[in-house]
Amino acid sequence: MRDEFPRREHATVDAGFSGGCEYCSEFKLAQPPPSVRDFLAANGLSSRALYADRDFVIFPSIGALDATHVLLATVEHATAFSELPSALLARAESLLGLVRDRLDGRAPMVYFEHGSACGALGGQCIDHAHMHCIRTTCDLARRVESLGPAVHLESLADIQRIVGPYLFARSGSGANLVVQPRSIPSQYIRREVCAELGIPDEWDWAVFPRWHNLAAALEAWKGEPK
Ligand SMILES: [Zn+2]
Ligand SMILES: [Zn+2]
Repeated sequence: MRDEFPRREHATVDAGFSGGCEYCSEFKLAQPPPSVRDFLAANGLSSRALYADRDFVIFPSIGALDATHVLLATVEHATAFSELPSALLARAESLLGLVRDRLDGRAPMVYFEHGSACGALGGQCIDHAHMHCIRTTCDLARRVESLGPAVHLESLADIQRIVGPYLFARSGSGANLVVQPRSIPSQYIRREVCAELGIPDEWDWAVFPRWHNLAAALEAWKGEPK
């Protein structure tokens, strides 16, 4: 059990900080990257947050694979959910439930995180803790297990046991799996979900930002109390 948040305050918020973490810059300092700024301006919005509180923010990512694809990210900078204190993991769990309840659909809700993987496992580009949430029939458990021996976790709270970079996935059945292979192909789970969606060549969010899906997510969440 870990009860304190490992605060890593950046020296000052103005010391070239916006050149650092994109999510801190956007959600703590209200300085989104230019592409997001353009999207918000074009849609008459001030933020792409679908939900925000002191500790977490939910928003559609650039490259959202469909309108159900959103991210749950910490407000304070952490590189992985495994770093979070128990109380925050409990809150994260209930917010994953909020996402599930908010986004109706036939396909099961699945979640994945490439924890601390930036530059380590190669699976992630933004080095700020975020959990992907998406409704898909893609069998994430099977895909993740193909990467190496999997550890089964009872719940998200057990992620604290994991040391070092990892890939976490919760499949539609609710099973929680963690693998820690030496390397993961870039955007591995995005590739797998794209294959399931019938768009196998469109996994790269930098090439396919899919702004229409961000707009659709914002529309779907309209009226959600912030
Ligand atoms: Zn950050
Ligand atoms: Zn990601």
